[in-house]
Amino acid sequence: MNMKLSLPHQLVLATKNAGKLAELKSLFQDYPIEIKGLDDFGDIPDAIEDKDTLAGNAHKKAQHYSQIIKKWVVADDSGLEIDALNKAPGVYSARYGREDIGYNENPNQTNCQKVLRELGELPISQRTARFKCALCMSDHLGNPIIEVEGTLEGSIGTDMVGNNGFGYDPIFIIPELDKSVAQLSPSEKNKRSHRAKAFEALVEVLKQKYNFA
Ligand code: IMP
Repeated sequence: MNMKLSLPHQLVLATKNAGKLAELKSLFQDYPIEIKGLDDFGDIPDAIEDKDTLAGNAHKKAQHYSQIIKKWVVADDSGLEIDALNKAPGVYSARYGREDIGYNENPNQTNCQKVLRELGELPISQRTARFKCALCMSDHLGNPIIEVEGTLEGSIGTDMVGNNGFGYDPIFIIPELDKSVAQLSPSEKNKRSHRAKAFEALVEVLKQKYNFA
């Protein structure tokens, strides 16, 4: 007999970002689980993201918050991998430009400009890249229960194009659309994003192994 495992009635997303929380709530709206954010649990000290992989940081964040609030937690960590830069900026995506330029009021623009400078005149065939999202779900004691990943393949353009999104979206081209991610509407991005794919992979595991349907 295929016995399914039990889930708690609440799952906490390890974020204080209202946008990420709303996205996850909509993904889980048809399922028997309530999604909470960190802000529902008062003033919690931030996890220190000092691991050298996205999966390592997701794991550390899930463990940190679940041990404090004693709930099941799902944590994510995302970044951009560029093949010609040996998979950089990767886990350092948020602060890639800052290392050269110091504090800047517009880190997204600084990050994009540094990538464009590093790649220079490299031909399009050598500008392949991907966004990656690692997710870790841990139980209320901090034990990792599910670890999954989602990716969005593409390539790095030669200019910043488009006004939507954030981060590296203006330089990340989706070849089949011939558009940057910053030219997509939020719903077009959410359909194909690395984060959406990682959360879909999480839902698949929950459906297979848990009483979740
Ligand atoms: P986080 O783990 O979601 O906070 O992402 C870390 C960093 O990766 C961000 O600060 C961005 O620089 C980059 N990044 C992650 N996801 C995206 C995305 O969807 N578009 C553009 N940049 C992203």
